[in-house]
Amino acid sequence: MSETIFGKIIAGDIPADKLYEDEHCIAIRDINPQAPVHVLVIPKKAIARLSDASADDQALLGHLMLAAGKIARQEGVGDAFRLIVNNGEAAGQTVFHLHLHIIAGREFAEGHL
Ligand code: IMP
Repeated sequence: MSETIFGKIIAGDIPADKLYEDEHCIAIRDINPQAPVHVLVIPKKAIARLSDASADDQALLGHLMLAAGKIARQEGVGDAFRLIVNNGEAAGQTVFHLHLHIIAGREFAEGHL
């Protein structure tokens, strides 16, 4: 798989506004935020799409969710945030290195995505 922009950010070859890092993932502010808080949680392992993850990735996927909760708390939005994964081009995915969007700080209509 060819390296994406997120691979280059993880390698430190491209700068990013990094909020969090641990052994398995980083979190950066989205360059084109769709809400006052818009953070990307990116595994260091380059999995192109969620649907390309396997059973071997189970612990990693759980880790990303837990990290997202921690980062949301760190950003002061732990009680009201949305987590989004775009899987595939037709679903709006543009960077083919799995990532979770944490979106918060704006109104979310009840019962609507
Ligand atoms: P996707 O559409 O779910 O693949 O999300 C990709 C996201 O990455 C978009 O929200 C972009 O704004 C964001 N993005 C692309 N390049 C960069 C970058 O260099 N730094 C931070 N965010 C980026």
